[in-house]
Amino acid sequence: MRAVSARSKCIASFPLSRLGHSTPMSPHGPTTRPSSPPPPPPPPSLLDDFAEHCRRRDLPRAMKAMHAMQRHRIWADAITYSELVKCCVARGAVEEGKWVRKHVFSGGYQPKTFLLNVLLHMYVRFNLLGDAEALFDEMPDRNVVSWTTLISAYANKGMNDRALEFLILMLREGVRPNMYTYSSVLRACADLGMLRQLHSGIIKVGMECDDFVRSALIDNYSKWGELQDALDVFNEVVTKDLGVWNSIIGGFAQNSNGDEALEMYKCMKRAGFAPDQATLTSVLRASTALALLEVGRQVHVHVLKFDRDLILNNALLDMYCKCGSLEGANSVFSRMVERDVISWSTMIAGLAQNGCSLEAMRLFEQMKHSGMEPNYITMVGVLFACSHAGLVEDGLHYLQSMKRSFGIDPGREHYGCMVDLLGRAGKLDEAVKLIDEMECEPDAVTWRTLLSACRVHRNSDLAIYAAKQVVKLDPDDAGTYILLSNIYANNQRWEEVTEIRRSMRVRGITKEPGCSWIEVNKKIHAFILGDDSHPQVDEIKRYLNQIVQRLMSIGYVPDTNFVLQDLEDEQREASLQYHSEKLAIAYGIMSLPREKTIMIRKNLRICGDCHTFTKLLAKMEQRIIVIRDPVRYHHFRDGACSCGDFW
Ligand code: ZN
Ligand code: ZN
Repeated sequence: MRAVSARSKCIASFPLSRLGHSTPMSPHGPTTRPSSPPPPPPPPSLLDDFAEHCRRRDLPRAMKAMHAMQRHRIWADAITYSELVKCCVARGAVEEGKWVRKHVFSGGYQPKTFLLNVLLHMYVRFNLLGDAEALFDEMPDRNVVSWTTLISAYANKGMNDRALEFLILMLREGVRPNMYTYSSVLRACADLGMLRQLHSGIIKVGMECDDFVRSALIDNYSKWGELQDALDVFNEVVTKDLGVWNSIIGGFAQNSNGDEALEMYKCMKRAGFAPDQATLTSVLRASTALALLEVGRQVHVHVLKFDRDLILNNALLDMYCKCGSLEGANSVFSRMVERDVISWSTMIAGLAQNGCSLEAMRLFEQMKHSGMEPNYITMVGVLFACSHAGLVEDGLHYLQSMKRSFGIDPGREHYGCMVDLLGRAGKLDEAVKLIDEMECEPDAVTWRTLLSACRVHRNSDLAIYAAKQVVKLDPDDAGTYILLSNIYANNQRWEEVTEIRRSMRVRGITKEPGCSWIEVNKKIHAFILGDDSHPQVDEIKRYLNQIVQRLMSIGYVPDTNFVLQDLEDEQREASLQYHSEKLAIAYGIMSLPREKTIMIRKNLRICGDCHTFTKLLAKMEQRIIVIRDPVRYHHFRDGACSCGDFW
């Protein structure tokens, strides 16, 4: 059927073009019939007109002029043609592009390599790899750009073998690959095995000393998480340049090895290199991951040089928010010349996480007012703010309207915020209903959020249900098993307690000990429950005892109700006083001047007793204390916490 109709269409159009009833030139091609009479002399302005049409990107007129030039057997310069080809690419004009190619290969015109590379690029952009290869074969001279265009096209298409094969052909032809070639080829490494193979290939051809290649190798080993290999390549470099340093520092930060990244950064500075945007972004990410405010502040000083760099400013913003310094974040945000959706979202989420929900909501209004479209992450921040401020109505409104207003489908994170919000408000049934109605499958985080709500509202039955869902989805979650067994024990359901203990033993699950970190004098001090290795541990414990005595004299009673907590027996009363965050706080008060905020990072959720202790202590000592646990930030100030006692 299709063949017949195509042919009939062809016949229908035939007489018109044959009789020349259409425009003298078919819009789709020159009439190079051998029987045509010799062309009249070209109008004198033809080449100028052509150049002008190309410059103005007027494709139809340019094509018409080109066909006239073809008839008169005249040709323009390579730059003009390349403008035309770029115009074809921009318009997706495949047929026109092919005509340009035909034209520049006709009548003895010898197109320059530069122009042929532009055509090659065009075929790649049109996804016509066959045509690209045919053109490549026809090219009298192929330079590094020609080779790299094809190699990166293959790599992008996932034709990795072909990309590597072309690299070898290229080397055989004596064309030296450049950084783009290698970055394309290394991108073609679909797995670690292939990367190693290519690495040995590179050594064989003696390319391993090239700095671009080295950086690309380091980047790629880091991407696959093979930091030792990355480090080996790095160590082989005798004269390291900035690119190589950036690769290794970035590699460590990418793999959450913040400590090593910072160590490397120090070495780099000692070696006399000035960091650039890429270095600083990596170092900021490392300090963010470690919540190292002081290191981040030092980096900030270097960032001032690049104060208009958007990516760097966003990294700085994120660092200040995650390190709990809203002052720092605000000052960066207000000074940013350019802000994108990431800047706004980071600031909104940062305010919300640090307990400034109303400011977060105000900023969201300001963002919409500025004409910036919110994205998925922005809406997570907004709902998080609603949940912290207890704005149930607003939260439901945003959840229900985000698709309509901003075209964003609510995802797990959005539902998670809503479960949290309903849970805080004590609307546990509604939270369960929302989980049932979710368009995506709830995950362990969703159920853990519900579990927290049950804990606060002391609803054991629902807590058991939620905890069971958590361990179904995350069978290694020690905290939840312990919580579950504590609830059963409290209800004298000893069989279930035994069963849980048994399955924990079978799975080899033990709860990791609580650990808190505090930064004092640009050094990290770690406090681990039951570990007395800190050099000043006796002094710290003595000081902590004094604090506890003073707090008890103003009404502090250690909270020993563990039913809805995930503390193990041995972590209870006896050691309650030495929970890692208490030691870290005591050390902070001992060693930091009064005006400094005490910043603590903790690996586990803070327990109820430590929370009460810290609130009272913040009031008694008139200090600001911030504890960042895996889920949220607690800003303690003047007897209250930003989490509103819900976590
Ligand atoms: Zn505690
Ligand atoms: Zn709190």
